[in-house]
Amino acid sequence: CGIVGYVGSQSALEVVLAGLRRLEYRGYDSAGVAVLADGQIASARKSGKLVNLEKALVDRPLPAGATGIGHTRWATHGGPTDRNAHPHLDNAGRVAVVHNGIIENFAALRAELAERGHVLSSETDTEVVAHLLAEEFSGCADLAEAMRLVCRRLQGAFTLVAVHADVPDVVVGARRNSPLVVGVGEGEAFLASDVAAFIAHTRSAVELGQDQVVEVRRDGGVEVTVTDFDGRPAEVRPFRVDWDAAA
Ligand code: GLU
Repeated sequence: CGIVGYVGSQSALEVVLAGLRRLEYRGYDSAGVAVLADGQIASARKSGKLVNLEKALVDRPLPAGATGIGHTRWATHGGPTDRNAHPHLDNAGRVAVVHNGIIENFAALRAELAERGHVLSSETDTEVVAHLLAEEFSGCADLAEAMRLVCRRLQGAFTLVAVHADVPDVVVGARRNSPLVVGVGEGEAFLASDVAAFIAHTRSAVELGQDQVVEVRRDGGVEVTVTDFDGRPAEVRPFRVDWDAAA
């Protein structure tokens, strides 16, 4: 029920976990994180409260990285188990995705992926997105374009945030019938389902419109590019988050 993404120069794990804590009030049954480090994706996920995930991270620490994503789950498809917790990865472990919402046509997409040799390892509607993103990325080497191509095939409600090990300074997000906000800081950016996740870091935010994809890319500074699902550029109008950080 909460999503956080980060690209910048801080520890992505710390930023993402702090963001997830800020979203805990929304309720959830599992949590997980993925960090990009040394050209690989390292992830951890646990059913239960964030403390369970934090304990797992003490027993098996993730390597330090400055790009990461995190999720608190409210299960809709598949029970609240470790295996169904997000992030979900493709078979090669190169893509990680987190999702809030419901992919209504997941069964048809699962069947199609299985036919092409993908092995799906959870009972979620979400996992298809990781596999589809990996396929599309291998065709275009552009994660935002891969996300657009995948979103055009999805029915339902979704906030999606994803990373790919080949593009370690990029986080992409997408939304339909479910919220996604980008926080823009100095040389860093945050993606979240709710501004509460990042107001400790920045008050400058961009709200995604219906059926839009965002790419945040760190390249000295940070660049935020928003398009519709067909790739047409959308206007990015930052607003200031005014409410009290202590709330
Ligand atoms: N439908 C997805 C699942 O059951 C996402 C649920 C959520 O919004 O947290 O895993």
